[in-house]
Amino acid sequence: MDVIHLVIALLFGLVVGSFLNVVIWRLPRGENLSKPRSRCPGCGALIRWYDNIPVVSWLLLRAKCRGCGSRIAGRYPFVELLTGVLFLLAWRKHGGHPVAALELFTTIQVCLFLAALVAISFIDIDHRIIPDRISKPGMVFFVALAPLSLLHMLEPQFVGGVKAALSAWLHAGAGAVVGAGVVLAIRAVGSWILKKEAMGLGDVKLLALIGAVVGPLQALYALALACLAGAVVGSLLFAIGKRRPMPCALTVKGDGTEASFDRMRVRGERLEVQGAPELAAGSEVTLDLVLPAARVLEEEDPRLALKARVAEVSGSGAARTWRLEVLEPTEDDEERLEMFGQSYRYIPFGPFLAMGGALSVLWGEEVHWFITVGYPEWARGMIGG
Ligand SMILES: [Zn+2]
Repeated sequence: MDVIHLVIALLFGLVVGSFLNVVIWRLPRGENLSKPRSRCPGCGALIRWYDNIPVVSWLLLRAKCRGCGSRIAGRYPFVELLTGVLFLLAWRKHGGHPVAALELFTTIQVCLFLAALVAISFIDIDHRIIPDRISKPGMVFFVALAPLSLLHMLEPQFVGGVKAALSAWLHAGAGAVVGAGVVLAIRAVGSWILKKEAMGLGDVKLLALIGAVVGPLQALYALALACLAGAVVGSLLFAIGKRRPMPCALTVKGDGTEASFDRMRVRGERLEVQGAPELAAGSEVTLDLVLPAARVLEEEDPRLALKARVAEVSGSGAARTWRLEVLEPTEDDEERLEMFGQSYRYIPFGPFLAMGGALSVLWGEEVHWFITVGYPEWARGMIGG
């Protein structure tokens, strides 16, 4: 294999990863992906091209804005590097013969798929949503292009014919249906047992997308891997007990004070925000609240106008916490606050599904071996059978 091809794949992935950072930030906020150009959130200065080179600029700038010195999160180079490495692995796995058109088309599809998984994972971590704007068109796109993917060529002797195209569409379509179906089934059983939503509809569409790329069997493998990893990481996080407040846009007005917050917690009818300026307990305030999740989930207006009372103030400085009691909320307000509140109580499953999908598409044979031979043998050994 040519090293130069791998380097090109890596560099291409770094550039795509840089774009994914924009997607992860803007898509859930309903902003345009191509305009305007990126600005520093600290000082508002336009980011110049030489300060926007994937990974390199972050290192040269030592994670600080050239203008105002505010910190640039390590998340940005991480997403770039992750995408670069995934593209390199995709090329190594599928792009063995770059002159053969089918191999090239397969590699491009796998790269697009991996890029979608990266964007979905980080949006799900930040906002607890899997955006329809990626999963739905993605599903259609990958089913449509199935005849151009080696992942759907079950019988190599068919390659190129009408039969090959039909069987590829069938395989990809079956992957999407099985992916959606199995999550829907788990969801139904889970809601019945737990009496609350076990998995979101976003997960249904995500596994359908994964199935459209890797086919029905590997879609099931991806789900099994996701459950395994989710159980391990979930219990670790549960043990640590760390929960971050969820992002939103909240402006509180009252008593001549105005304060804005970009994160809050919801506990029943009480909202909790941190880092607030001084405001006496008992005073009444108005809330102007935008729940970003609602923007992508539904077409309804994401803006809520609420009245609240400051029920409790504790701590001081940046750690000062206000508890706001919402006064006379409408049924609709209550429902949406509850949805928002519930969404952060669970760890997002999207990143685990995405990881399963990535493993399937990059190491399909190894995954098959692990699920059918490796893991059962290990489990048998553990039981001592
Ligand atoms: Zn700046």
